[in-house]
Amino acid sequence: MRLDEPWPENELETLGKCPVCGSAERDVLLDGLHDMAFRVAPGRWTLWRCGGCAAAYLDPRPAAAFIVKAYERYYTHGESEAFRLDPPGPLDLRTRFITGVRNAWLNRRYGAKLPWALPFGWLLAGLFSDRQRRVEQLIRHLPPPKGRKLILLDAGCGSGDFLRTAGQLGYQAMGLDFDQEAVARGKAAGLDIRQGSLPGTGLPPESVDYITVSHVLEHLHDPVGTLREMYELLKPGGCLWITQPNLSALGLTEFGVAWRGLEPPRHLTLFEPAGLMTLLLEIGFEQVTLHDAVPQADFYYRQSRAQQLGHDPYQPGPTPGWSSEWDARAAAADAAAAQDSRLSEALTITGRKPA
Ligand SMILES: [Zn+2]
Repeated sequence: MRLDEPWPENELETLGKCPVCGSAERDVLLDGLHDMAFRVAPGRWTLWRCGGCAAAYLDPRPAAAFIVKAYERYYTHGESEAFRLDPPGPLDLRTRFITGVRNAWLNRRYGAKLPWALPFGWLLAGLFSDRQRRVEQLIRHLPPPKGRKLILLDAGCGSGDFLRTAGQLGYQAMGLDFDQEAVARGKAAGLDIRQGSLPGTGLPPESVDYITVSHVLEHLHDPVGTLREMYELLKPGGCLWITQPNLSALGLTEFGVAWRGLEPPRHLTLFEPAGLMTLLLEIGFEQVTLHDAVPQADFYYRQSRAQQLGHDPYQPGPTPGWSSEWDARAAAADAAAAQDSRLSEALTITGRKPA
């Protein structure tokens, strides 16, 4: 398939109504979207805003049987590439100190045995509340296991980087992904990864304590069915953790069709915080919480700026068209999101299944 061609008609499905709430009331939010991020998927796409639940969705969209064609050149999410609880040494003095305080704090909290921990370093952790928030986001707000080993499922885990992190913090971590190659890579690295779909995991109900869904929900043809299944998989009292691009992000207003969070036609459905929280409550979750934003605008703004100018956002080197003015705009977006996390580039929400 060539990028400038339409996606083949017989491989599309037309919805006519919202895949989240079923309402047919809608307006065009953005038109003429195309694959600016990985530049493998042909087609022009329309993003609709639902009048019922305020979610946004592509319509038409590639049918589930053909969507794999949009993933021919796709990097699994690199969040943890830069984040290791056990960075290979030697560390420079500053990194040694930061790692030392962080790991001392995590060891104390989780009873873990992470390397590099500074003796009594945990006493200093409270002084770095920004960094502490960032670490909490990176460990996906995992609660410390109290007395027993907790089972974690990372649904859509890629090659399983987060399983390693969760394992180091004392969780019994398993992953699920539809991508055969990613599953094979993870298995080769000794991780518990299974191949499966969302929904339709094949896992037994009430078997998991904590489920994380990181940048996955927006890719699924049936996000609601998936969330319902996650609810079933959780033991009573178990928690679901979700992070994904935020339809209310300031970056969407700034960049429109070039906003990195859109990523058509791989991102099929996007939520505003309130809409996703309402959906979780309807499914039965309680204590549904939108977490504080961590700074992310630098990534989203740089990638969006490159896309806006027609460049590959993953091209190494300086960001095309970037200047100190853009640094300031990204910093302002982070500052606004720090005040009001409903404006953050990506949203993070947790919910608990009643005990
Ligand atoms: Zn809707």
